[in-house]
Amino acid sequence: MEKLAILGGKPCRDIEVRPWPKWPVWGKEEENALIEVLNSGVWSYNGPKETEFNRLFAEFTGTKYSICTVNGTVTMQLALEAMGIGVRDEVIVPAITWQATAATVIDVNATPILVDVLEDTWCIDPAEIEKAITPRTKAIMPVHLYGAFADMDAIMEIAKKHDLYVIEDCAHKHGGEWNGKKAGSIGDVGSFSFQLSKHLTAGEGGAVTTDDPGLAEKLDALRNCGRRPEGDSLIGADKGIGDYGDDGNFIQSGNLRITEFQAAILVEGLKRLPEQNANRDANGAYLNGLLKEIPGITPLKRDSRETKKAYFNFAFRYDTNAFKGLSIEKFRTALEAELGIVVDACYEPLSNCALYVPHTKPARHKLNDAYWAAIDPKRFKLPKAERIFKEESVCLHHKILMGTKADMDLIAIAIRKIYDSAEEIMI
Ligand SMILES: *Cc1c(COP(=O)(O)O)cnc(C)c1O
Repeated sequence: MEKLAILGGKPCRDIEVRPWPKWPVWGKEEENALIEVLNSGVWSYNGPKETEFNRLFAEFTGTKYSICTVNGTVTMQLALEAMGIGVRDEVIVPAITWQATAATVIDVNATPILVDVLEDTWCIDPAEIEKAITPRTKAIMPVHLYGAFADMDAIMEIAKKHDLYVIEDCAHKHGGEWNGKKAGSIGDVGSFSFQLSKHLTAGEGGAVTTDDPGLAEKLDALRNCGRRPEGDSLIGADKGIGDYGDDGNFIQSGNLRITEFQAAILVEGLKRLPEQNANRDANGAYLNGLLKEIPGITPLKRDSRETKKAYFNFAFRYDTNAFKGLSIEKFRTALEAELGIVVDACYEPLSNCALYVPHTKPARHKLNDAYWAAIDPKRFKLPKAERIFKEESVCLHHKILMGTKADMDLIAIAIRKIYDSAEEIMI
């Protein structure tokens, strides 16, 4: 049996010789576009690149409006604000997500209600959403996590029944499709992040998508100091439906705009995305096929209603028992050593997440004692999310899906190698 890399053996992948594909991806196109912006002197907002990107991104997501803003956190906060959600309102958020999804709810003075997830996709459980609804519930924020998709049929049905808004957190799902509908076009608003780790990126940045002209107009104003939409900033929108004051201002807000440099990169990145998504999908499907054959490894479920896959990272489920009791921490470390790439757990459940700690800001969030108690993350019991995080989640960067089938074979070989030698690294 081959010696495991964690014990000093030869790793399955020598990254000096065969580095993983790099992320982010750029070329002459980005370079030229950046120089074009530089030389134009038009560096700020509502310029030609941002206008072009918004047009292309609305088309790409099958929505009427796309509005850029500084990141994929502010996107959700502005959506909540545009919907008039705030004090005394409740918003339903999945237990497993990046902390931003819940933090934005707190930042509009509403109450995040954390809800448990499904075991096979790690996405929000519609049955748990139903249980969490109260007369105060105003919105649901499903997250399409990693390679999976939240069950949008069930979620939209619940939203319709209870007259709730739906904000899709699509930070992992640029280009994904459910029943032929693009992520970000199913709920009332789609929220996208262009942070460096995401599979469409400008370093930082975000966009909201919507079909609702009223929400679009408010969102546009909210990212632009409250100004009414101006120039070409809101393609095709029925401008002027808002309730403007005499001074032309619409809503009080701050500056949450992106630059033309970011928009220029996004225009080029969006051209690359369909092919990258298709390649990641083909590799992901192939790798899942290989992983299914290894005892104790279960790919995340691909729902038959998911008509187009978009991967942010590659995640799968691990079962310690099948690996003769090898702890998941040891498994991840051993896999890192074999592959020369970081192997992580999923996001920490928000009930116990180091970066989701609303009680650290009493001056800002302690509206009253009842609210203070309501936003305590620890009051939510999320057993499935906690078990998934602690016992079964394995996540790798999506760049591993950007290579060839031979790269996928290697990942499966590495896992199989650990399976065969599990006893050697157990103490
Ligand atoms: C990255 C991410 C966000 C936040 O996006 P930023 O652009 O980093 O602010 C929100 N939700 C999820 C699920 C994310 O992964």
